[in-house]
This record gives sequence, structure tokens and C-alpha cells, in this order.
Amino acid sequence: MTTTSAVDIAVLGAGPYGLSLAAHLGPTHRSVKVFGQTMSFWRDHMPKGMCLKSDGFASSLSAPGEGFTLQAWSKAQGLPYADMGLPVPLETFCDYAEAFQRRLVPDVDPRLVRSVQHEGDHFALTLPDGSTLQARRVVVATGIQPFAHVPEALRALPASHVSHSSDHTDLSRFAGRHVAVLGGGASAGDTAGLLQVGGARAELVSRHPVRFHNPPGGPRSLAQRVRKPDSGLGPGWKSFLCTHFPLIFHAMPESLRLRAVARHLGPAPGWFVRDQVVGKLPVHTGWQLRTAQLEGDQVTLDFLAGDGSRQQLRVDHVIAATGYRNDLDQLGFLAPSLRERIRTVARTPVLDRNFQSSVPGLYFAGAIAANSFGPLLRFAYGADFTARRLARALA
Ligand SMILES: Cc1cc2nc3c(=O)[nH]c(=O)nc-3n(C[C@H](O)[C@H](O)[C@H](O)COP(=O)(O)OP(=O)(O)OC[C@H]3O[C@@H](n4cnc5c(N)ncnc54)[C@H](O)[C@@H]3O)c2cc1C
Repeated sequence: MTTTSAVDIAVLGAGPYGLSLAAHLGPTHRSVKVFGQTMSFWRDHMPKGMCLKSDGFASSLSAPGEGFTLQAWSKAQGLPYADMGLPVPLETFCDYAEAFQRRLVPDVDPRLVRSVQHEGDHFALTLPDGSTLQARRVVVATGIQPFAHVPEALRALPASHVSHSSDHTDLSRFAGRHVAVLGGGASAGDTAGLLQVGGARAELVSRHPVRFHNPPGGPRSLAQRVRKPDSGLGPGWKSFLCTHFPLIFHAMPESLRLRAVARHLGPAPGWFVRDQVVGKLPVHTGWQLRTAQLEGDQVTLDFLAGDGSRQQLRVDHVIAATGYRNDLDQLGFLAPSLRERIRTVARTPVLDRNFQSSVPGLYFAGAIAANSFGPLLRFAYGADFTARRLARALA
């Protein structure tokens, strides 16, 4: 038997964006329902032992008033913390965010919404047990996990021999095995380094040079800070403008916005990963994957190298640390009739200044909103701007 209930706002997602928004809605809105598994992307799709690339000060969730910052929580727990220069372990970040959820958003419903349909002046949400919920407004903050990208050449291989970096939390199962990691960004650096530390024989293969972040130096002079101001996305004027003026970004011409999102803050492992990778395992750069074939119990990978030569690797397993590609069509819980009505650009929803899509009452937050508000929205740091603005708009 199905049951139906009704709320004003349904928030889909209990990651940094969904939780921050819910914390801001909390005191003013009694009719809010938050769905999702708290921090599931971070707990279930990132490798144990990883550290965050974002600085300590840029890794807090957002809450009204004094907030509930990573710094304050770490201090209360007796854990080491620094605004910059001390990487935040993944485990610490997840524990912090879960404490945030327990304190500020205690009523998260862990069910994943199976479908969202638009019916007249409301949305109908169907849950896994078949029950339904009516919501006047829906905020989609479901993150990037459905957008995991695996290169075409690898897609025909069986899951026993190829996987995406987001498929792994515990890399120790590869101990003693030969693994190729494809990619040149944070996931690739983390995965290759942790595989090697865990006793696997890892090789990192990237189309482009691997550009590790620079380690933060000591205190910087005024002149240095003027030349490259600090920001929650790292030092530099572009990042500074992105963090401080997302609404100006929103007002820029569409083509400029898309170019900026595609180009700014490209793939790069954290500075602290360099020591686990450089000199510790083979790193092949300028290699472009051509074909991949299962031969016996191994995979043969063929590459075209930057000098035009052909290169080959035979490995036990390939991990595609090849990132995520936003694509609204991959959000299978949005009913096709609803998806069709959402105006898109580059496969992402076109959003107004309040995160609302072309379907009134349907909002999007997080990385899928980056083409509207800039690269800030790809990081937890963007949750503060988003939660404050969206909560005001919804109030
Ligand atoms: C390897 C890696 C390292 C990263 N490191 C950093 C970093 O150091 N700093 C940083 O700021 N960013 C980092 N990022 C980016 C990070 O993904 C985003 O900052 C962050 O996860 C965005 O939060 P979110 O709330 O949008 O989504 P997520 O954290 O992905 O949360 C999504 C939520 O949606 C829920 N959900 C999914 N489907 C449904 C459904 N159908 N119904 C209801 N709920 C649903 C999930 O259960 C989950 O609770 C990293 C990304 C990767 C891949």
C-alpha cells in the first residue's frame, strides 16, 4: 500500500551542499524534508587514506550564525587543524560533516528518491518503498557520482579488469597486483599513490603533464598577496574573483562562463601527494589511450605517446581516474517528462540567480550549477554562498 504526505521543500542530497542548505532553512522552515545518505560520496566513493585538496579553512559546511566549522569541531575533538598547510584527512572531514548533520540537520531521511515528477503546482516524489511525497519545491543536490566518466576504449572490458576511481574505498585489495591508473588529476594522484603505498605495482598514465599543486610557503608579503591573493580555491586573482563574485560570474555571457568553467582549476593532484608519486612509481605523461584488450587474465593498453611512438602496458587492472562529466540526463530519478522541460546548456540546467531552473520550483545546487555560478560550485567551499542565497530565495 502506498502512502502520500506533503512538504513545502524537499532537498535531495545529504552532502556538503544539501546539509548546508538544510541548516540554513532549519530555523525558518518547518516543512522541509532532506533525503540522502549523509556524506555517502565521501565515505563510499573516495579512497581511504586520502586527504582533502581544499585547505582547512575552505572545508567547512555552512550554517547560520557562528556556524559549526571544521576548525571549531577539530579543536573540540583535540584534533590537529590549520587554516592552510595541514591537509585534512578524509576520515576527519567525514566525521566532522556527520557531526554537523547530527547537530544541525538531525532528521535526514536516508532513502534515495526514486523518481521526481511534476504534477500541476507540485512535484511528486516516489521513494524506494513505493510511498510518495508531494513537495512544492525541490532542490537537487545529489553531487557528481552519477557523472563518473570512463573512456570509450575501456567500456567493453569486464568490471573485474576495469573500474572507475569512484568504485574504490579500500585499495588494499590490489596489493601485489599491477595496476594502471589513467588520469592526471587529484583522483589519479591519490589512487596511484595509495595503491603503491598499499603494496600494488601502480603506473600513472596521463595525457597531459601532471601538475601538482604548489605547497603553501610560509607567510607571504603584502606584495605577494596583492599579486596572488588567497582564496578558498587557492591563490590567484581568478580564484579570488570566483569565490567573491559568483553573481557577477552569473551575469557574464554564457560562452565566457562555459570557457571559464572548463579551463579554470583543471586537474591537479594536491601538493602533499607528490611525495607518494614522484620517484615512487612510473609516471607516463603525454600518452593517449588508443585501445584496450583483455588478453588472458591481463589487459593490454595501447597508447600514442607525445613523440608519435606507440607504447604498451600489460596490467592486471585499469583504474580510470578520468573524472566526472556533468550530464542532466544521467539523473535517472528525474522523470523524462520533467527532464525534457529543463532548459540546458552543455548538459547542465540553465539556472536563474536563485538557482531555479526553467521549471518553476525546481532548483539545482553543487557542481551541476557551476556553468551558472562558476568553478566555486565544484567545491565544498561554494556551499556557503549557495546555502545562504538559496535559503533566502526559498524562505
Ligand atoms: C576524489 C575527489 C576528491 C575531492 N576533494 C575535494 C576537496 O578536497 N575539497 C572540496 O571542496 N571538494 C572536493 N571534491 C569535490 C566534491 O565532490 C564536492 O565538493 C562535494 O562532494 C560536493 O558536495 P555535494 O553536496 O554537491 O554532493 P555529494 O557530497 O556528492 O553528496 C550527494 C548526496 O546526494 C545523495 N543522493 C544521491 N542520489 C540521491 C537521490 N536519488 N535521492 C536523494 N539523495 C540522493 C547522496 O546520498 C549524498 O548524500 C572532490 C571530489 C573527488 C571526486
